[in-house]
Amino acid sequence: MIEIQSLKFRYPGTEFRLKIPEFNLARFEKVAVIGPSGSGKTTLLNLIAGILTPLDGSVAVGDIEINGLSDAERRDFRIRNIGFVFQDFELLDYLDVMDNILHPYRITSALKLDREVRARAVALAENMGIGNKLKRRPDELSHGEKQRAAICRALLPNPGLILSDEATGNLDPSNKTKILDLLFQTVEDHQASLLAVTHDHELLNRFDRVVDFQDFQDENIS
Ligand code: ADP
Ligand code: MG
Repeated sequence: MIEIQSLKFRYPGTEFRLKIPEFNLARFEKVAVIGPSGSGKTTLLNLIAGILTPLDGSVAVGDIEINGLSDAERRDFRIRNIGFVFQDFELLDYLDVMDNILHPYRITSALKLDREVRARAVALAENMGIGNKLKRRPDELSHGEKQRAAICRALLPNPGLILSDEATGNLDPSNKTKILDLLFQTVEDHQASLLAVTHDHELLNRFDRVVDFQDFQDENIS
C-alpha cells in the first residue's frame, strides 16, 4: 500500500533532516508509528499524503508514484484515496460539524455527495458520539469532540489508506478505546490500511507492527 525508497527530506533553512532508506506498509496492514516529539512523524505522514514532496527518493501509494503527480493531481489523489486525521484537526471554523465532515465531497468532483453519503455521515457521527453536535461550529466543541469530527471527515469517503496523527491523544481511556475500535472496524470493513502515529503505548498491541522513529534517527546520525 505504501512503498518508500531512499527518501530524503528537509524543510528549507532548517537543521532538520529526515532520511528513510526503506519503509513499506502492506495492504490491510495496521501499523503504529512511535518516536520522540520532533523526530519527523508528522512530516512522514505529510510526505505519504503528498502534502510535502521529497528532496530525493520515492513515495508510492498503491500503484501511484506520488512524486510523479502535479499539485492538482496529488490533491485529487489524496482526497480520493487517503483519509488523513491531522494532529491539529484542521477543521474549518466557518463551517458547522456536518459541513466539515462533508467537506471533501465539496472540493473535488471525484467524490459524489448524495443522500446516501449524508446518511452515512450522520450514522458515522452518531457512532462517534457527536451526532447531537452536527450543527455546532468547531470552536463550540471540546478537544475530544473536534478530534472525533476530524476522524469522521477522514473516514466518510471510505479511503483505502488512513493516516492518523495522534488521533487518540487527549482522550479519556474509554473514548480512546472507542475511537480505536471504530478506526480498526472501518479499516477492516473497507479493506483499508492504517498508519497511525500514537503516544498511547497501551494501545500498541492492537497493531500488526510498530515502527519506532528512533531507528530512522539513528540512521540519520550514521
Ligand atoms: P513529530 O511529528 O515527530 O513531532 P514533525 O514532523 O512535526 O515531528 O517535525 C520534525 C521537525 O521538523 C521538527 O524539528 C519541527 O520543528 C520541524 N518542522 C515541522 N514542520 C515544519 C515546517 N513547516 N517548517 C520548518 N520546520 C518544520
Ligand atoms: Mg507530530
